[in-house]
This record gives sequence, C-alpha cells and structure tokens, in this order.
Amino acid sequence: MSITSPDFTAPMSSFTLFVWIWIGIACLTFLSLFSITAPYGRHQRTGWGITIDNRLGWILMEVISPLTLLFFFLTGSQPKSKVVWVLVGLWVLHYINRSLIFPFRLRTDGKRMPLSIALMAVFFNLVNGFINGYYWGHIAEPYSDAWLTDWRFIVGMGLFIVGAFVNIQSDEILLRLRENNPNTYKIPQGGLYGWISSPNYFGEMVEWLGFALMAWSLPALAFALWTIANLFPRAIANHQWYLSKFTDYPPERKAVIPFIW
Ligand code: NDP
Repeated sequence: MSITSPDFTAPMSSFTLFVWIWIGIACLTFLSLFSITAPYGRHQRTGWGITIDNRLGWILMEVISPLTLLFFFLTGSQPKSKVVWVLVGLWVLHYINRSLIFPFRLRTDGKRMPLSIALMAVFFNLVNGFINGYYWGHIAEPYSDAWLTDWRFIVGMGLFIVGAFVNIQSDEILLRLRENNPNTYKIPQGGLYGWISSPNYFGEMVEWLGFALMAWSLPALAFALWTIANLFPRAIANHQWYLSKFTDYPPERKAVIPFIW
C-alpha cells in the first residue's frame, strides 16, 4: 500500500458510508442479542417459522462468505498484491473449514434450525464478503511488500493464528464429547475450557480482530466487530445455560474472557 492513516477531512465515499452504517447495525445487534439469543443449537426454540436440517443450514450460511469475497475480489481491476492474496487466502481457508469440514463433523443428527436464522446469517456473510472483497478488488490501493514486515501485519497474523487454533481446538473438544452420545450435552474439559465456557467464540473473536489488524482496513474491522456482536452476547447466554443445566459446573469458569468475564 500505501497504508496511510485515514483522512477524516476527506469527503466520505458511498462505500465508506455503507461500511460505517453496517458497523452501526453491528452495534445495535450486539445490544439486542443480550435480550434475544439466536434460536439454534442449545438455544433452539419454537416460534421462529419453518426449519431446515442443521447441517444443511451451516453449509448454506457459511459457504456464501468465501464465494462472495472471491467474486468481488477477482472481478475487481485493482492490482492484486502479495499481501492481499495472503488475506484472501486466510479468509478462504477459515471458511473451507467452517462451511465444508465443520458441518460434516457435527453430531447433531435430526437437529434442525429455523430457516429465518440461516437466512439472516446468509445476509450477514453476504455483506461482509461483499465489503471486504469489493474493497480489495475495486477500491484499495495495493499493499506494498513492506507491509509484510509491518508490526500490524505480524502481530495481526500472530493473533489470527492463535485465535484460529483456539477456535478449532475448542470446537474439536465439543465434537468429541458427542462421540458416543449424539445430541447430548456434557461439561467440556481441556484447552481453554478450564477458564471459560465458550473458548471457541473467544478464539473466533481473537482471530478476526487479528485479521483486522493485519488488513488495517475498515471492512475488515467491520467484520471483526460483527463477529464480536454475534458471539459475545451468545457466550454470556451459553454460560448462563451451563450454570442452569449443571449443578456441578465449575464455579471459577468465566463466560468468554479468561479471568475477566
Ligand atoms: P457451540 O459451541 O454452541 O456448538 C458447537 C457444536 O458443539 C454444536 O454441534 C453443538 O451442538 C455442540 N456442543 C456445544 N456445547 C456442547 C456440550 N456442552 N456438549 C456436547 N456438545 C456440545 O457453537 P456454535 O454452534 O454457535 O458455533 C459453531 C462455530 O461457528 C464456532 O466455532 C463459532 O465460533 C462459529 N461461529 C461464528 C460466528 C461469527 O459471527 N463469525 C457466528 C456463529 C458461530 P448443538 O448444535 O446441538 O448445540
């Protein structure tokens, strides 16, 4: 790039305005999800319309993200720098796991989710894929190779890798709990479960905050904020669910941020 500090005196483009509005909606969503927990998984409940197979829902919701990102990135005429290929590659790798591997490992046989929730997630992934892909494909000045050694890229990459590791390890622990008992819930142990109830969410939030640092762009920041908006309130709801379901739930365990929350 030319990664430069944002010029707050420059007139705002309609794209930038769109991303800021999207960030505003994330803030409202964050607040509202403390009172309305999305009704899938352990928080599944009736009254949300027709339902679809849980596994199919996960594939549909998640595969849209890398497809949209790649479409807008590849159809744009902006030069494709090494750095941007790394960023796009990490995004696609994450979503290959989330949309094509994770759903086939779920042990939620017979479980369903509301179509309305799947469609909301499709919309969320569509917009986030669009703003990031469009930005890199059509708008952003190419990153220079020097960005590869900038502290933001290096620290962000470190956070992304640690976050992805924690996310995948924690999901793996949950999946193994179901090996002989599909659709039952147990108290997870191991990894960061010693400290928090939803380390998979903690890992995902760290991962995308790291990504936003690496990318140093408003659309990547918007996606990180949306991830927090979705997962932080749900982690609080998961923690309360564990406390109400298991009388022997470890009292020292926090909800989502080790030692703090
Ligand atoms: P959960 O932790 O609620 O569940 C993950 C899987 O483990 C589900 O199959 C669930 O079954 C099962 N499970 C959960 N707790 C237990 C337990 N105590 N005992 C046995 N099995 C259990 O995660 P989500 O389904 O909400 O999310 C899955 C992944 O997607 C996570 O990695 C999350 O970070 C990511 N995600 C990312 C979002 C984003 O905005 N970027 C948004 C939402 C999710 P069941 O479905 O039956 O409860």
